[in-house]
Amino acid sequence: MDIKSVGVIGAGQMGNGIAHVMALAGYDVTLNDLNPDALAEALGRIEKNMARQVGKAQITEAEMVAGLGRITSTLDIAAVGQADLVIESATENEDIKNKIIEGLVPHLAEQSIVTSNTSSISITRLASRTDRPEKFMGFHFMNPVPLMQLVELIRGIATDEETYLSCLQVVEKIGKTAASAEDFPGFIVNRILVPMINEACYTLYEGVGNVASIDNAMKLGANHPMGPLQLADFIGLDTCLAIMHVLHDGLADTKYRPCPLLSKYVAAGWLGRKAGRGFYDYRGDVPVPTR
Ligand code: NAD
Repeated sequence: MDIKSVGVIGAGQMGNGIAHVMALAGYDVTLNDLNPDALAEALGRIEKNMARQVGKAQITEAEMVAGLGRITSTLDIAAVGQADLVIESATENEDIKNKIIEGLVPHLAEQSIVTSNTSSISITRLASRTDRPEKFMGFHFMNPVPLMQLVELIRGIATDEETYLSCLQVVEKIGKTAASAEDFPGFIVNRILVPMINEACYTLYEGVGNVASIDNAMKLGANHPMGPLQLADFIGLDTCLAIMHVLHDGLADTKYRPCPLLSKYVAAGWLGRKAGRGFYDYRGDVPVPTR
């Protein structure tokens, strides 16, 4: 199926990035949120981020103007239903996503493919809430969307080949690379990445190293561009903990038990960069390790 229009539900940090890359690739984009402030903020951010790309000569001024002209924002979910491809990217909460799907389904066009950008919720379960599980799959972008090369494409148990191939074509058209994953907790990236971060937390918890030595060890010893604790702060410690719970519950293996020190940081509200403090304290000029 040749996809021409894309509907994005949820205009948060991921939704605005998805609208951005889709519009620049030539798709007509309808961006939806229930919060008018989120929509206004998203449009402002997209314009700012595209202007930065013009400044770096990555796109031309004309491409920016054309891209911005392809984005329509709406508070009405019915307007999203007519898109060839819908990407749900609202808050990571299964009840919220179920309600969105329930509201969306009556408005879907016959050909519409529906996808979710969820980081951890079962694609098969979300698909079962629709009238078209064979036309439903995971379309999982990485953060920040305009910069990160990968998209994980996750097939639910019922996803058909045509849906997968249509989504693959979109990934190629936006200039990104797909990794295909089956629908199991954490898919590929988070299944491998987040337990590594959790293990770095245990290494800290058990006193094997401090924050600086653990991050330096992995940067210089494993050639990682960022240390695992620095990366955890970037992702958000609440998000890391939530993914560990999904792995622990979904795979029922004690090797995925969340580190008590990670839980303690989250309980304290030390959630990483977004909170000003996590494994590092960001409130001064330079980040200072908290341990
Ligand atoms: P966010 O909190 O920045 O944005 C969520 C947006 O959804 C908000 O603007 C909120 O108003 C909106 N929303 C809530 N209920 C809605 C509804 N009923 N209808 C329409 N909009 C609604 O969250 P985010 O970081 O952009 O995450 C969105 C999704 O992307 C989640 O499923 C998350 O797991 C996934 N994801 C996040 C990351 C990341 O690093 N943040 C990476 C990959 C995937």
